[in-house]
Amino acid sequence: MFVKDVGIGADTHFWIDKWLGDVPFKDAFPIIFRLETTKGVLIMNRVTNASSSLTFTWNWSTEPRRRTADELNSLIYIISGHTFSDNTSSKWSWKLTANDIFCSSSLSQFLNLQAADNMRMSSLPSLTTDLNPFIPQKIGIFVWRAKQDKLPVRMALDKKGIDLHFLRCPVCDGDLESLHHTLITCNFDKDIWERIRKWWKLDHLSLNNVSEIAKCPNPPLSSNLGITIWQAIVWVSSYYIWSHRNVRVFGNNCLSPPKIIAEIQSKCYEWINCLWKKGSLKWLTWIMNPKCFDATYSRVGVG
Ligand SMILES: [Zn+2]
Repeated sequence: MFVKDVGIGADTHFWIDKWLGDVPFKDAFPIIFRLETTKGVLIMNRVTNASSSLTFTWNWSTEPRRRTADELNSLIYIISGHTFSDNTSSKWSWKLTANDIFCSSSLSQFLNLQAADNMRMSSLPSLTTDLNPFIPQKIGIFVWRAKQDKLPVRMALDKKGIDLHFLRCPVCDGDLESLHHTLITCNFDKDIWERIRKWWKLDHLSLNNVSEIAKCPNPPLSSNLGITIWQAIVWVSSYYIWSHRNVRVFGNNCLSPPKIIAEIQSKCYEWINCLWKKGSLKWLTWIMNPKCFDATYSRVGVG
């Protein structure tokens, strides 16, 4: 595979070029980008790597505070996981040979190894076990990141040595912001999970830890189809909880819990009906008693 090594960052733009992640930082962190005085600054003028220790040099039009500081912390968190080389210019390299030069035999060798190397594959989201066919891949990847403890909550940033003004939950201010609190025990989450429980007419809905969100144990439905749809609901709900947290941090308008539940219901309805080839959900059944469809479709052998 070809990988871009930005070296010391002498010829790659910090905000404008795509060098870490899927989008340029100007798009991933638009709020903090607005405060940048030199939009076309090079990486080497913002980050330097000496003795395996990163130093950041910023130049803001106004000093980031509160919400913009939160976005900056997330940016620093991502960069701190990157390894910079000491090359003076960037280069694309083929990372599958010792000399970084492409040859076709290394590609076929790589493909064979990849098929056989279950250990390696298990560290990446797997299409069959980590992604749900009814919902957008980004939500599956979000759940996978949560399971790997890779979301930038304040406790995680603090562990990375990033100095934050406060570590409490930005939503309820009732506890330290761990991932467990953020997705499960925050007062806001309890409200959302309780509404999901009532919607699905469950006696109880208990999530004890973040990995249970990913595994989705004790599904209330029996068919494979029903289990997959229930998993989609749990994953989408946790994704909305995380999105709401980010909206709170970054200062945009928040949706109320009833509106979030309505969004979860309508989005899932839309996605499932779009991707389910063998049948379709009825809106009223979906809203009034979503477990109902499972019995119907199990009887006729669908799913
Ligand atoms: Zn909270």
